[in-house]
Amino acid sequence: MTATDLVPAGFTPPVDAETVSVEDYRAAVQRWLDEHAAELAKPAEHSLEAEVAQLGKVRRALFDAGWMRYGWPVAAGGLGGPDVLRAVLNEEIAERDLTDGTNFSIVEVLAPTMVSYARPELAAEMLPLLLSGREQWCQGFSEPGSGSDLASLSTRATRRDDGSWVVNGQKVWTSLAQYAQRCVLLTRTAPGHAGITAFFVDMDSPGITVRPLRTMHGIDEFCEVFFDDVVIPADRMLGNEGDGWRLAMDLLPYERSTCFWHRITYLFTRLDMLLAEAAKQETEPEAATDAAIGAAYLALHTVRCRSRDTQRRLAAGAHLGPETSVDKILLSTADQKLFDTAREVLPGTIELTDAHWRTEYLYSRAATIYGGTAEIQRNIVARRMLDLGKE
Ligand SMILES: Cc1cc2nc3c(=O)[nH]c(=O)nc-3n(C[C@H](O)[C@H](O)[C@H](O)COP(=O)(O)OP(=O)(O)OC[C@H]3O[C@@H](n4cnc5c(N)ncnc54)[C@H](O)[C@@H]3O)c2cc1C
Repeated sequence: MTATDLVPAGFTPPVDAETVSVEDYRAAVQRWLDEHAAELAKPAEHSLEAEVAQLGKVRRALFDAGWMRYGWPVAAGGLGGPDVLRAVLNEEIAERDLTDGTNFSIVEVLAPTMVSYARPELAAEMLPLLLSGREQWCQGFSEPGSGSDLASLSTRATRRDDGSWVVNGQKVWTSLAQYAQRCVLLTRTAPGHAGITAFFVDMDSPGITVRPLRTMHGIDEFCEVFFDDVVIPADRMLGNEGDGWRLAMDLLPYERSTCFWHRITYLFTRLDMLLAEAAKQETEPEAATDAAIGAAYLALHTVRCRSRDTQRRLAAGAHLGPETSVDKILLSTADQKLFDTAREVLPGTIELTDAHWRTEYLYSRAATIYGGTAEIQRNIVARRMLDLGKE
């Protein structure tokens, strides 16, 4: 299936991708989202199933209307135009709280790199399935013995006589793997960094077992994924044999740029919510509470400024690298500060109720772990940006 199969004959894009200004694009997206607010609204039910269904529904509606295709290459089923159009769309979705910020962003984490490394025909076949909400993809990088030290991963891929590969090993913390149709998988094909090879794997391949793991916020957000003699055709390799480390390094900055823009917007909606709930409190706020809210705002504003600069560099064609670790440190700090402040401002809400604040507070604890831990980011800043050496 390609974009041609998913797009009705005679479809006319709502704006011209190459000539539209960011302001006009944003205004057109806003108009469309306002007109379709009722059909896109989040369901009242709070469950991961409902959230994943909502993700699919929102992406599909945005794809059918064309919006989800802007900023993606025409050759892979997109409508072309600059990457920044994707950031604008993500921001508008987050502003309206239509989907969970993190899960919507999985597109931004995985797809740019998949598209650059996959055979053009594979990218053209698969990307529209993701953008149109028909599929979910997952990221098979971390293993029980390889998280921060990703280069030590040991899930093995061995070439067979017919050119296909057979994979054995285990991944862990694979977000939404139980819903995913495909996985961007890192495997070991030889020793060292140059011995890591990436594949684009169908999750219904025989030999794959997915076991969801319950997090402390009570949601089976991620999984263990076992690979037992899983056969992967040769044409599912991303890049060439040994390109996996380069792919991972190219992917991580995306995880720390466009999708952060989305998360930051989402966190600002939570700050607004906090202000509204604080205003309803019966007791007069103490000066310390005001100061805490001010500090949370400043932390969010700081990461937003930084992320804006990163977006600009991306738009100018810059190759993002280790400097995006600064974005990650600022984001995780702001994320946790905001929910720490909610805990302070709304006494007992997080500890004693099942309100969304509790779930979000607990999830914010993961911000210094996912996408590379806070300690590792600081090591990267120290070694690769400040040239402070290994120890
Ligand atoms: C919510 C969530 C979603 C995730 N989703 C995915 C996913 O979809 N796909 C995927 O592949 N992975 C995913 N991960 C995994 C994530 O990338 C890893 O948890 C992370 O890279 C850390 O690896 P680890 O858990 O093995 O911890 P470890 O690497 O074992 O680290 C343990 C502790 O030791 C510290 N540490 C380790 N090495 C050093 C060092 N050299 N210097 C200083 N301190 C060090 C770490 O900072 C950490 O505090 C997810 C994680 C979370 C929390």
